[in-house]
This record gives sequence, C-alpha cells and structure tokens, in this order.
Amino acid sequence: MDDALTAITKYLVIKRLAGDTITILAVKEYLVDNLSPSTIGHKYRISKFRVRGYVQRVMDKAKNHRVAAAIVKRVFPYVIDIDPIILRVSGKYLCLLCNQQLRHEQVEHHIRRKHKDLVQTLVSQIVSGVRKEVR
Ligand SMILES: [Zn+2]
Repeated sequence: MDDALTAITKYLVIKRLAGDTITILAVKEYLVDNLSPSTIGHKYRISKFRVRGYVQRVMDKAKNHRVAAAIVKRVFPYVIDIDPIILRVSGKYLCLLCNQQLRHEQVEHHIRRKHKDLVQTLVSQIVSGVRKEVR
C-alpha cells in the first residue's frame, strides 16, 4: 500500500496546488461516497467519461478499487486543507509563488518542475500523517 499511498497523494497534491479541486472531489465522491460518474459529472458540469478518466488515473496507482478508496478517504482531508498556489485570472493562470503567468496546459508541469520541493514536503507530511492514523 505504501507506493500507492505516495503516488496517489502526489497526484492529488499537485491537483490541489493547481487549484483543480473538481478532480479531487470527483475522485473522492466516486471512490469514497460511491456516487455514479454521471451524478458527479452533472454536479461539476464535466462529462462522465472525464470523471472515469480521473478515477482511472488514481486506480492505476493502486492494486484495486478497495485500496484506492481507502487511500483517497484518508488523504482527502489533508489535501483539501492545502492552499492552491495557482490563481486563475481571466482565462490565464498565475503562480502565486513565483509570479509566472502560465497557460492551462503548463500548470502541472510548472508545479512538478519549479515547486518540486513543496510537493515533496507536502506529500511526506501527508503520508506520515496517514501512517500514524493507521497504526
Ligand atoms: Zn511558480
């Protein structure tokens, strides 16, 4: 479960830093709250196929549905507590840490590359927090 825990935490942390909270909510509501992809899609105005895509990316990091659901359930409260570093200003994206303007498709790459240390720190904190709870 350890590799899956770290991989899923990292995926969700980057989404949250990017301000992409809908992806996190969609994954959590599907895996933890057992809502259907069409219900979730309707709620956030995205297609059910997109919901399935987000969930699939999380599932790929875990062995099965049960493990993925258990991890997302524990990691979610920590991730949702993080403040995004990307601010959307009239269709453009601004990094609040380095003031760089980005296009949507550059956002995650920017976070992974320029704010790698922040991502690593947050992931380590969450993973050790979750492990303490499990013990
Ligand atoms: Zn930046």
